[in-house]
Amino acid sequence: MQSYQIPGPKGTAVLDLQEQFLSPSISTPMPLIWESAKDCIVTDVDGNRYIDFTSGVLVTNTGHCHPRVVKAVQDQAAILLNCYDSAHPLRSKFVEKLASLMPEDLKRVLVLSSGSEAIDAALKIARVSTGRQEVIAFDNAFHGRTFGGMSVGGMVGSKAGFGPLVPGILRASFPDYYRMEGTEEEIDARCLANLETVLKTQSTGSVAALITEAYQGGAGSIIPSKRFVHGLRDFCKRHDILLIFDEVQASFGRTGRMFAFENYEIVPDVVVLGKGIASGLPTAAVVARRSVMDGLKRGSLSSTYGANPLSCAAGIASIEVIQQENLAHRAEVVGKKMVKRLNEMKERHRFVGDVRGMGLALALEFVKDKQTKEPDPEFTQQFVRELLQAGLSAMAPIGRFGNVVRIAPPLTITDELADEGLDIIEGVLQRH
Ligand code: PMP
Repeated sequence: MQSYQIPGPKGTAVLDLQEQFLSPSISTPMPLIWESAKDCIVTDVDGNRYIDFTSGVLVTNTGHCHPRVVKAVQDQAAILLNCYDSAHPLRSKFVEKLASLMPEDLKRVLVLSSGSEAIDAALKIARVSTGRQEVIAFDNAFHGRTFGGMSVGGMVGSKAGFGPLVPGILRASFPDYYRMEGTEEEIDARCLANLETVLKTQSTGSVAALITEAYQGGAGSIIPSKRFVHGLRDFCKRHDILLIFDEVQASFGRTGRMFAFENYEIVPDVVVLGKGIASGLPTAAVVARRSVMDGLKRGSLSSTYGANPLSCAAGIASIEVIQQENLAHRAEVVGKKMVKRLNEMKERHRFVGDVRGMGLALALEFVKDKQTKEPDPEFTQQFVRELLQAGLSAMAPIGRFGNVVRIAPPLTITDELADEGLDIIEGVLQRH
């Protein structure tokens, strides 16, 4: 196995300069100093090459710098960069394209610049549409860093010190089959029953919406069952509450379908999109039922950069690439193969407590002891650093206990490269 000195001399200089001026608030960076990336290979400023298992942060589903996306952005950059809320052909085409992918009457699209901004917009839309204010959100959820996003978020990390939060957030339990007691069915039943209790004990009778991630990413890629998500859909219908599906990191082929809600065979009322939507151009969107979004007043929700021409160009090209290269299907096929190998590693290696995955959104959870399931954040930190030194770009650990490593290569990854990356993972595990 190769062993890079990381960061190298050029990388160290970049880091030194950054340290002097960049806000310390950004998330813990990995010591890989990116210079360029092409498809599934990243090159750092010292010339080292890595297989990418990050897609940035689940953004470049189409592969880094896909030629069609790059060309679309370059062509558009040469003729128009900004026109604020004025119409332009690519905006019309982009919203039409997004709407055409959605079922039922989910045909109204608001284009914005970041996932957090889109979450805030979804919460505002729910208030206006229902005339109610409260929102049910889950323990350990992550929905972004705006006031709305962090208020519905259920982990302390992104909100510590930033209060007071938006009022009217009611807290419910999300199923974690690895860590909760009981069978999947029992856990689902308990969590769904808990929702009824939340209504009876926490609400003032003014619930507008329930917001859920398609799978809980920040909490450690915790994937709910189809049964649980059906239960959510049913609960929202019975109580006349909007179901907001946060797919910011789960859509555009990542989970093996264009949109993650398709895996669960339900239709939400509001869908929040981001990350993979435009392969790296800062873009996000809220798609809602016509009946939900049509009550908004003109001028009440928009932004300087929402639906800017570059985002629309990149968004249209990304969707076309995902469709024409059949990337959702590819994510499903490659993801299954990778999960199989990762599960074999779990049998052989004492630190691997759990393997989870949906398409190419995969995760490994590390524990000190498989019986007690005591989290092992120290090993997890060491593990991702060793992966990097061996030529595999991995994201910094996440999860409630900092003991989960996400594996999320671009959906264009070949079987051979996926295997090479897994060989590196296995090689590092074998050392311990
Ligand atoms: N929701 C989810 C589920 C996310 O994963 C993220 C980003 N990690 C966000 C919202 C916030 O998106 P952004 O960082 O683009 O504001």
